[in-house]
Amino acid sequence: MEELKPKSLNFLEEIVQEGIASGKYPQGILTRFPPEPNGYLHIGHAKSICLNFGLAQRFGGGTNLRFDDTNPVTEETEYVESIKKDVSWLGFSWANELYTSDYFEDLYQFAEKLITLSFAYVDDSTAAEIAAQKGTPTTPGTHSPFRNRSVEENLTLFRDMRAGKYADGEKVLRAKIDMAHPNMHMRDPLMYRIRHVKHHRSGDKWCIYPMYDFAHGQSDSIEEITHSICTLEFDVHRPLYDWFLDKLGIFPSHQYEFARLNLSHTVMSKRKLLQLVNEKVVNGWDDPRMPTISGLRRRGYTPASIRNFCERIGVAKRDNLIDLSLLEFCIREDLNKSADRVMAVLDPIKLVITNYPADKTEDLQIENNPEAEVITKRSVPFSNELYIERDDFMIDPPKKFFRLGVGLQVRLKGAYIVTCTDFKTDADGNVTEVHAEYIPESKSGQDTSGISVKGTIHWVSVSHAVEAEVRNFDRLLIVEDASELGDDFLKFINPESLQIVPKVYVEPGLKEAKVGQALQFIRKGYYSLDLDSTSDKLVFNRTVTLKDTWAKEKAK
Ligand code: ATP
Ligand code: MG
Repeated sequence: MEELKPKSLNFLEEIVQEGIASGKYPQGILTRFPPEPNGYLHIGHAKSICLNFGLAQRFGGGTNLRFDDTNPVTEETEYVESIKKDVSWLGFSWANELYTSDYFEDLYQFAEKLITLSFAYVDDSTAAEIAAQKGTPTTPGTHSPFRNRSVEENLTLFRDMRAGKYADGEKVLRAKIDMAHPNMHMRDPLMYRIRHVKHHRSGDKWCIYPMYDFAHGQSDSIEEITHSICTLEFDVHRPLYDWFLDKLGIFPSHQYEFARLNLSHTVMSKRKLLQLVNEKVVNGWDDPRMPTISGLRRRGYTPASIRNFCERIGVAKRDNLIDLSLLEFCIREDLNKSADRVMAVLDPIKLVITNYPADKTEDLQIENNPEAEVITKRSVPFSNELYIERDDFMIDPPKKFFRLGVGLQVRLKGAYIVTCTDFKTDADGNVTEVHAEYIPESKSGQDTSGISVKGTIHWVSVSHAVEAEVRNFDRLLIVEDASELGDDFLKFINPESLQIVPKVYVEPGLKEAKVGQALQFIRKGYYSLDLDSTSDKLVFNRTVTLKDTWAKEKAK
């Protein structure tokens, strides 16, 4: 058993714990995860999910899954479905599945209330005029000429906006706060705009849609969310969040901010990920090179490895860049415990065992995973002709080459020790076949040969081998930090981010592998069966290499 160390609390856990200690949440806490359904979830969202669901699990309470679907232009049902699938797959269950669009009527009534209280007005200014009225951070803004409309006039106009009397952009509803406020978000921000667009859930019912700032806090309040957790860039929105709840006199939800996750060698915003999909840089949202949850799943990542990663990076108040190798470390650590070890030859050359009967096949019993709690074995056929890796043989081996060269001995994994006797080449001098003799008394598990060898290599019997395709992935971008690149990130795509090895040989038992099953190809890496596999053709994705080869590359 691992020693249970008392974990120190992150700043959000401290806030929650203090609140609970002071008796603020007799019913427990309520958090929410509020994705906008305009794309697939990525590893940054996983951090937010682990945080929100984790807090409720740890301190007692629940987490709502709320689709923040206030923008009818970019949202689609496909995204809603994928988000639900990904949150569940990560291992979390939500208390309620909710949609901001279900609050459109409540939000509308809140807006009328603010108009009645003279805290909101209908503005006919154009978008450019409103922008000009805002002023700058160092100079106060100016009042809109429509700012002093009467309550009655505002109510009539707002109801007409709802009724569809105006075209897009003709009018907006603004909060009436302070055009000289040091916080630009408080300078009469927009609450509603007109959009004659069909919404993925409410259809044509509405032609006015609330802005994020007007919808988010009120939705939190309707649900009685105790801790509304968002990323740092929203800290300047917090005064507005509080202002709306205060003026409306409704449930006082509170917003807290934490640093978003930025990961090296990739992009994370849904807009940029969509660009990669649309421009066919990748083969869809679930391309194994994508930092999406669906991409990571297809690549062979496990939910536990992603949760561990989120736990390890912690929750901070300052933005930083996390190296992708930490994510890789987490999946390696998990798969080392769980993945069966199997044999696959990626760059084959034939090894003929000249003293082994040509008509004989032995079914060797080989351990699946020496790290497992209960050791199991599988049967692997052995015969006189095997595939081995081309680089496990050398014509002129250097001194410490503990593999094959004429006169050298090596153990064939789970089988016998062989002595290399000879090799064949083609007209260009390329090795085409290696010959060896096996030592019958050296069989693994019952070795009485007394010979000890330093190297063990993997192999697959030629007549039993199954052909497969292997897809090796690498960093999507060649730059570490893409955050300042804007749309230029497309110029930094790693041309070698996908390398296909069309024909490799794997042991026959892998015909039974299941899509998503994690495997360690001995000495080669962790792989997972891809959903493109058919009964005629297996396809394996490399989840991660066995060692951190990237760190070595960088050090060169
Ligand atoms: P993107 O910029 O990728 O489109 P977003 O913030 O617009 O992200 P939302 O769907 O609005 O995406 O986000 C849902 C929740 O996930 C929000 O609470 C948001 O703060 C959080 N989130 C999004 N990206 C990250 C990230 N990189 N790290 C941590 N949390 C994130
Ligand atoms: Mg967003």
